Amino acid sequence: MPASTQHVEIDSGLIAKFNQSGPRYTSYPTADRFSGSYGFGSYLEGVAGLRARGGLAPLSLYIHIPFCQSICYYCACNKVITKDRSKAETYLDYLKQEVAMQGRLFAGMNRVEQLHFGGGTPTYLSDEQMDDLLAHLHQWFEFAPDAEGEYSIEIDPRTVDVARIYKLREQGFNRISMGVQDFDPDVQIAVNRVQSEADTRAVIAASRAAGFRSVSIDLIYGLPRQTLCTMEQTLAKVIDCSPDRISIYSYAHMPHLFKPQRRINEDEMPDSATKLDMLALCIKRLTDAGYVYIGMDHFAKPNDELAVAQRLGRLHRNFQGYSTRSETNLVACGVSAISSLGSSYSQNEKTLDAYYERIDEGKLPVARGLQLDNDDLLRRIIIQRLMCNFELSMQSIEQAWPIRFSSYFAPELARLKSFVDDGLVDIDNEWLTVTPKGRLLVRNICMVFDSYLASKPAIGPIPLRYSKTI
Ligand code: SF4
Repeated sequence: MPASTQHVEIDSGLIAKFNQSGPRYTSYPTADRFSGSYGFGSYLEGVAGLRARGGLAPLSLYIHIPFCQSICYYCACNKVITKDRSKAETYLDYLKQEVAMQGRLFAGMNRVEQLHFGGGTPTYLSDEQMDDLLAHLHQWFEFAPDAEGEYSIEIDPRTVDVARIYKLREQGFNRISMGVQDFDPDVQIAVNRVQSEADTRAVIAASRAAGFRSVSIDLIYGLPRQTLCTMEQTLAKVIDCSPDRISIYSYAHMPHLFKPQRRINEDEMPDSATKLDMLALCIKRLTDAGYVYIGMDHFAKPNDELAVAQRLGRLHRNFQGYSTRSETNLVACGVSAISSLGSSYSQNEKTLDAYYERIDEGKLPVARGLQLDNDDLLRRIIIQRLMCNFELSMQSIEQAWPIRFSSYFAPELARLKSFVDDGLVDIDNEWLTVTPKGRLLVRNICMVFDSYLASKPAIGPIPLRYSKTI
């Protein structure tokens, strides 16, 4: 049985000791390990491999819409800021060509049980554009009925009204997530994302009334002008809105990587001790309000599918964060989108020009990727289990893989000793368990099993590539 996740303890001394930059492990190996030697041909081989094995696993589809109307200064997403709607028209032309190519490839093994629209801002598209794109998706893929499928969309409450929310439900979406970040007007000005509380509340209320099965809110802590007091007020309002899921991300200030962040006034940012207090406040307020701590930065109501999946040991982690479906292959369409098929990952071209150019050549726009070897697959399972369940049965790994855990992972177990000594991890004959004190540092614990960090440095030193784990 997975460990109870209700409980997480904050020990600021230990967090300061272990808190270093590290991956978020939405995949293992992480996307910065993808190589240009994996291309279109490798992807075709991957799909052929799935077909040879029967190709019956359901699919997840991810659709990336990169456009936004204005820039949020904290943003680290791959997006295009434009008010020129014709750019979206051109993009949709190409995106539909990619969908058709993928649809042909997956013919006969194309049942979709999960669809996610992310961005950017998917609601940058008009109702008509969305209708057209969805009709095209339905032409090429077979979708599970509404009651069985998870069809989600990220919305920007500043770009939708109540009628649009009803329209999205009518278009088949049954889960909705929205960026709030902070309700405080001063913080909103500091990050150039002014979004009235009334509008956000109206969108949440409309989502419920329209029949969305899960409403999710994103918050960020560590933004300029945030204080414990503003955070307390924002949390009270969020709890009052009663979303099914809440994500609270730590703002990672990396202006050397993300240009918009250069417009953030560093003097107005909370220091790391205050940030930790903010995180502690979030955890306390949300768990007191009945939310379950899922892991990393996610909370959910106890009856939400995410919390239920975790209790059943069926939680999974993919490029969109935590997920309830473990056995699906992820087909991702759109600029920069990342697919995960069987034992491979592939990423599309990251710029619109390169993306269009590849499709004009009549090819899927795969730019890079990775074919996992046996060691990658083994470590991927271990990191998944730790990220999702906070524990790992070493015996179950030995039953599934021809290894003796204590020998194969002897260096890792030695490195874990300092975590054990500090009470962050317990290890007995069968289980490796992340304790309540270790849960906030689960990324650091997973890093011990990341062979690439130890032996094969990628582009740039670790602190420049990854965010701090807290
Ligand atoms: S945070 Fe979201 S809405 Fe803001 S610029 Fe980035 S992708 Fe666009």
